Amino acid sequence: MSLEISPEALRERIRRIPKSETHLHIEGALPYDLLHEMDPDRFAENPPFREPDYRYPSFVEFETLLVDHAVAWYTGPDRYHEACKRIFADLFEQNVRYLETSLHLAIIEFTGSDGHELISAIKSAAPEGMEVKVVGGLTRDGYTRVMAPTIDRLHAWDDLDGIDMHGQEWLDLEPWAAPVWKACKEAGKIIKVHAGEFGGPEKIWEALDVLGAERIQHGVRAFEDAELVSRIVDEGIILDMCPISNEKLRVVDRIEEHPIRGYIERGVICTVSTDDPLCFANTITSEIESLSSRIGFNSSQVAEIAKSGFRHARMDERLKNAYIEEIDAIFSD
Ligand SMILES: [Zn+2]
Repeated sequence: MSLEISPEALRERIRRIPKSETHLHIEGALPYDLLHEMDPDRFAENPPFREPDYRYPSFVEFETLLVDHAVAWYTGPDRYHEACKRIFADLFEQNVRYLETSLHLAIIEFTGSDGHELISAIKSAAPEGMEVKVVGGLTRDGYTRVMAPTIDRLHAWDDLDGIDMHGQEWLDLEPWAAPVWKACKEAGKIIKVHAGEFGGPEKIWEALDVLGAERIQHGVRAFEDAELVSRIVDEGIILDMCPISNEKLRVVDRIEEHPIRGYIERGVICTVSTDDPLCFANTITSEIESLSSRIGFNSSQVAEIAKSGFRHARMDERLKNAYIEEIDAIFSD
């Protein structure tokens, strides 16, 4: 494998390789075009927040914008299906073959929808040749009177592949969360927690110790605690990272300062994803390209992170190995 290939040749390889995404919020993946087509007066073409240089003033302002846009579209299962058709077709065109996407479960309460119908609406939009797993996303204050009976039964939902804690990381973990995550873990689901994005290392410790996370969403701030990084390496905890999101939300000042390369060199398992492309106007291809063009990954590191996405995917072993071999073949041209 040559390290001397030109940036153009590397971009061409990035375009061709099979890809995965394991940190994508389906509400945050809403194609902006759908909103514009639905209501061009309210959702003008090229809004400022989708400009390349745009940075969000704060997480709360980002979250408010995301919710305002998402609820305008996502009113029930039919809208999920329609949006997912477009989202998945676009990902498939970029050679995404494995996707874990999170569904914000509070939508069940907001829209009065049935959770299983929402999951089916998402999964049935997957094109042949692309595996889609759905993870239930909950917020730290999401255990409402209406949602509690649903949340308490999530471990028994056969159609739900995993669980994730997202939203405002600085809120305290409430007592309901640990038993819910434990039951889901015992049921064999994918166990995720957003941590170390705005919160410090202590939030990652909490995600590991209290919620049993096997995949940390972001984990940017783990480097502040060497003991924590050692534990992440030793236990094979995966960081599903999204550098463009981190720059747009000012988690890092500049993407060039993102710790992902240092993590990989330290032996941390990392993957790369887009988080909320509605808000960041990024794609999985641009995300991987930025690793080399702005974070200094060499071509073998790019190949390694792409393979990592499949190596740790919950998919058929033969298929997984076929994608890994395909990446190797493209990088050894
Ligand atoms: Zn996220």
